[in-house]
Amino acid sequence: MKTPAHTRRIIDRLETQHPGADTELRYRNAFELLVATILSAQSTDARVNLVTPALFARYPDAKRLAAATAEELEPQIHSTGFFRAKSKAIAGMARMLVARHGGEVPADMDALIALPGVGRKTANVVLGHALGVPGLPVDRHVLRVANRIGLAEGDDAELVERQLGAAIPRARWTLASDLLILHGRRICKPKPLCQQCVVRDDCDYVRALDQERGEKPRRGAHGPRRVRTPRR
Ligand code: SF4
Repeated sequence: MKTPAHTRRIIDRLETQHPGADTELRYRNAFELLVATILSAQSTDARVNLVTPALFARYPDAKRLAAATAEELEPQIHSTGFFRAKSKAIAGMARMLVARHGGEVPADMDALIALPGVGRKTANVVLGHALGVPGLPVDRHVLRVANRIGLAEGDDAELVERQLGAAIPRARWTLASDLLILHGRRICKPKPLCQQCVVRDDCDYVRALDQERGEKPRRGAHGPRRVRTPRR
């Protein structure tokens, strides 16, 4: 695994490839981002962005959403997939926000993950982007890219969050996650576009391929490592 200093240099370099990296979900406040992030599971941000304007116009806050039934919500979010489970989740989440937090989204990990449909990744997205609390969401893109480069090891999201969090300053956690997600969507796809990648000289995956082919290791290599891409 890379040293913390090397990890930080790699994150800096990724920033040059993806300037202005941010979540691609559209939202105006923490409540909207929380709903949008729940809807984005097993979907795409672009698809979620198509349904949320009408949804937020109809249910502008937790109180209004809490009054809706899951059945009423289903047709409105149908196209995001898993609409029955998501309808139950966002209606239940809104009811709990009203019951426990006066309708406000709490800026606290434990309180967030107690809400229906909210896991650690969703909580970190909302904390980091909408509530000013550093959060490092780890999704399948972060897992894949971080393991390939050698910034982290393992396919357990919480473990990878800890490994990245230990190497990257708290103030850069959210940006680092956004950079790794965008890199995974645009360049380090399941079939990676390594020729277009700004960190290829630092990447364990590329080094392992070079070594398999019997080529000289690239600049920045620190010895062989078997790279396993998580299955998520
Ligand atoms: S060099 Fe290839 S495998 Fe490594 S991070 Fe870049 S795109 Fe991914």
